[in-house]
Amino acid sequence: MIPYEFCRKGHLNYVLDRNVKDQVCSLCREKLVRECEKCLGKIGSVIIGTYLPAIKRVSTSYKIERPKLCGHCGEILPWTKNMHDKIDGSGIWKIINPEVRDVSKSRFDTGHYADAVESVFKHINSKIKKIYKCKTGTELDGVNLMRKTFTPSEPVVVIDNLETETGKNIQQGYMELFTGSISAIRNPKAHENIEISADECVHFLFLASLLLNKLHEAQIR
Ligand SMILES: [Zn+2]
Ligand SMILES: [Zn+2]
Repeated sequence: MIPYEFCRKGHLNYVLDRNVKDQVCSLCREKLVRECEKCLGKIGSVIIGTYLPAIKRVSTSYKIERPKLCGHCGEILPWTKNMHDKIDGSGIWKIINPEVRDVSKSRFDTGHYADAVESVFKHINSKIKKIYKCKTGTELDGVNLMRKTFTPSEPVVVIDNLETETGKNIQQGYMELFTGSISAIRNPKAHENIEISADECVHFLFLASLLLNKLHEAQIR
C-alpha cells in the first residue's frame, strides 16, 4: 500500500514517508498538496497495488482518480483552477500554432485537457492523410501513414535537404517524432491511469504546435 499525493500542478507522486514535512514534486518541484487549503480536509490516498521499487512503478491494476474539487468542502483544487488561469493568462495562445488554437482552445477552456490533446493529434493525422492520399492515391492511417510520408528514402513530405547526411538525419528524426507522437499520445487517456492536467496538456499542445509548424515549412513532393 503506497500513499500518494498530487503536487500543486497535479502531478502524481508516491510518498514513501508521510512523516517528512514539506515534500515537493519529483517532476516540477512544486509543493505536494496534502490537504484542502480551505477546509484542511485530506486529499490524496493510498494505493492498493504491487509496488515495484526497482522501477518505481506500481502495477496498473488500479485506477487513480485525480479529483477536480475537494471532496470535503467542494473547493476547486489548485491543479484545476490556479494552473488553468496561469496558463491561460501566460499568452501561450498567441505563440502556439493557430491550428492548435482553433482545435484545442475551446476544449482547454472547458477543462477537457485530454480531449484537447487528442483532437489536435487527430487533426495532424487527418491533415497528413489528405496530403498522402492526394500525392499517392493511397489511404493510410496512424503509424504507417507517418512512416511512409516522412521516410528519408522516398518521402512525400520533405523536411530537410536530402542531398546531405545531416538533412537525411533530420528527415529521419522528424519521421520518428511524427510516428511517436501518433502512436504514443494521440489519445493521452488511453495509456495513462489518470486524467491529464492543464499543465501536462500544454506540453502536448506545444509538441503538436512544433509538428504543425514543421509541416507548414516542409516541401510536399
Ligand atoms: Zn509537479
Ligand atoms: Zn476542502
